[in-house]
Amino acid sequence: MTLYDDYDAPPYIHVDGGLVARAEAAVSPLDHGFMHGDGCFEALVVTEGRIFMLDAHLERMRRSLRALRIDYDLDRLRTAIAEVVHANGLGEASFVKAIVSRGASPAPSPDPRGLVPTCVVFGEPLMHMVDKQAERAGITLKTAAVRRNGPETLDAKIKSLNYLNPILAKIEAIEAGADEALLLDTNGEVAEATTENIFVVHGGRLRTPSSSAALEGVTRGVVERLATDLGMASERARLTLADVYSADEVFLTSTAGGVIPVGAVDGRRPDHGPLGPVTRALRDAYERVLTDPAFTTGLDELLPKPGRRRAS
Ligand code: PMP
Repeated sequence: MTLYDDYDAPPYIHVDGGLVARAEAAVSPLDHGFMHGDGCFEALVVTEGRIFMLDAHLERMRRSLRALRIDYDLDRLRTAIAEVVHANGLGEASFVKAIVSRGASPAPSPDPRGLVPTCVVFGEPLMHMVDKQAERAGITLKTAAVRRNGPETLDAKIKSLNYLNPILAKIEAIEAGADEALLLDTNGEVAEATTENIFVVHGGRLRTPSSSAALEGVTRGVVERLATDLGMASERARLTLADVYSADEVFLTSTAGGVIPVGAVDGRRPDHGPLGPVTRALRDAYERVLTDPAFTTGLDELLPKPGRRRAS
């Protein structure tokens, strides 16, 4: 059984500049993304025809690509994202994944020279990570034995295709009966969850790890901004497990899940429960900005206008 047994998959995927039927979408087995995890990706959400924080995601993609020395035109990606959502009728609520790899190699070698990048974009109906019942209880976290890689090895700031250590951590969490894993960095400081950043609240004060092993999450940045707007104190700090265990509230943030209440970490329950006042206020504020023009780009701004000809 998989999570997706009754899943009605959207019909089109974007591969290298055009839409193709999902069943025919293919990438070479010699693609560096497949062979070596050599590439990067972004995940975005669309709500009521508006893409959330598109420019921030494209900017992070630009930085990841530059760090990997992959040359790809992000204007093409911008349009491809809108086309995938539109062609699949996913404008109401969708999750989009855009992947750029170094490209297909003529031989099974890691040599990166001369390859033409591969780009794949797919859109899926947004499936909320947490259903309403689970939300009331909050998700459970288990601290993983495996550590989050930091800049001394594979820099977590590059949103690369190599997700081995979050996946190993997720396996640990699943085997322990928890919903999600919490990863420490190699110094023993709290870094992040497998695909989410973490916040803790003590006495109304909000903190998120300053660890350089955490991804610079777009949702985390939005939540920090919303906290400031709501007059809440928020800072980045070196956090240890004791800070998490002693928190009044703990929540995760990600594009796919938004603001996700945490009900227990290694069996310890936050004092104010999973949806304490700070988490609730930030979750509500986040849900409001999902369609706010100051935080979003309309699909109609990116798609070619029907019937309108360019002046020659
Ligand atoms: N950390 C990791 C490792 C992730 O993969 C993600 C999801 N992209 C996040 C944090 C959350 O980042 P964002 O808010 O940009 O989705």
